[in-house]
Amino acid sequence: MSTVLVIGAGGVSSVCVHKMAFNKNIFSDIHLASRTKRKCDAIAASVKERAGVDVATYEIDAEEVPAMVQLIRKVQPSLVVNLALPYQDLPIMDACLEAGVNYLDTANYEPKDEAKFEYKWQWAYHDRFKDVGLMALLGSGFDPGVTSVFTMWLKKHKLKTIRTLDILDCNGGDHGQAFATNFNPEINIREVTAPARHWENGEWVETPAMQVSTPFEFEEVGTRQAYLMYHEELESLAKFNPEIERARFWMTFGDEYIKHLTVLQNVGMTSIEPVKYQGKEIIPLQFLAAVLPKPETLGETTKGKTNIGCIATGDALDGSGEKTFYINNICSHEAAYEETGNQAVSYTTGVPAMIGSALMVQGVWSGEGVFNMEEMAPDPFMEMLNAHGLPWHVKELDGPVGF
Ligand code: NDP
Repeated sequence: MSTVLVIGAGGVSSVCVHKMAFNKNIFSDIHLASRTKRKCDAIAASVKERAGVDVATYEIDAEEVPAMVQLIRKVQPSLVVNLALPYQDLPIMDACLEAGVNYLDTANYEPKDEAKFEYKWQWAYHDRFKDVGLMALLGSGFDPGVTSVFTMWLKKHKLKTIRTLDILDCNGGDHGQAFATNFNPEINIREVTAPARHWENGEWVETPAMQVSTPFEFEEVGTRQAYLMYHEELESLAKFNPEIERARFWMTFGDEYIKHLTVLQNVGMTSIEPVKYQGKEIIPLQFLAAVLPKPETLGETTKGKTNIGCIATGDALDGSGEKTFYINNICSHEAAYEETGNQAVSYTTGVPAMIGSALMVQGVWSGEGVFNMEEMAPDPFMEMLNAHGLPWHVKELDGPVGF
């Protein structure tokens, strides 16, 4: 039995709050606050209809630390679940420290004026959380999150060490729009247009964005072109698995997405440098995000499946030599929508956020300081994935990936 305060009212938050309400025995009292209260109220109404559970709602600017502290003191949660944007990570962590409450998020902090994805800003909070006996859990989404736990589960149950790791993220869904992103457009486009980076022999290797790609056959989706990208879990996976020789992240994009993105980039619409427009400074990417479809509106029209997983090669635990395993989850957009009113990209992030929260509020995962998912025991999380809508499968492959 616990009280939780969720911040942010987008697609990920909607899934997480629905899932919390479906698990009333764990989350007895759910509070939801965001910049636009109307969006919190819409989620609360849907939760009431689907789960018969009341969710209290509030308006908050999470970047205003004193207001956040006041709200936390009023609600008295045992955990603050940050499902707003990466820009709010540090102010929400500051508020948690001041109000004396644990913290969880799904995406690492990014400064607004630079598309830089690093854990250093949040890792720097470790001693402050440790000194007051609080816990912060970073990256409890799918990637990072499930992919981090998948890797650690393979290392616990199948492989002694990991030599190479490839994370493959395929959204095989079709939303019926010419161009849209399945999670926050500003964050998505910053991520996709940043240079690709992978870990190889103890250092980061950088290549231009969207230059390296390979076709890959994804079960229940088909063959898709997967592009090498940087993704934040590469940093924590390399830190907590220092033996890894090469770790890469791949994401699939359709031709239409690439075509639109290329044009938008070429005309400067994805820039985060401010420009003067009618006497006002605007950031082109923020303006673009404002005119693109909102991710939470795509649920009804999105058809198809996501297939996200990890391929790891290393020495087998049973001493039988080098082995390669593929572990993944396949999630249906239509099924996700039917259950929570949101498409599968929000679902595959919101469910692990609920699971990480459940493990923290029940004390199954505990600690003092700032932690990544790789540092937590994988088995309870893996069991909950199976029980709460994200079943996973593991199989042995004939050998390492050929790309
Ligand atoms: P949305 O843009 O749909 O939702 C973000 C929400 O945060 C909105 O409700 C927004 O308010 C709110 N918000 C923004 N700024 C503030 C603020 N200053 N104070 C309070 N609330 C604020 O995003 P998603 O739901 O798609 O994504 C949520 C998070 O999940 C993001 O951080 C994203 O990076 C992360 N993510 C992680 C993934 C993973 O696998 N680990 C995958 C996908 C997403 P408003 O409604 O007013 O705009």
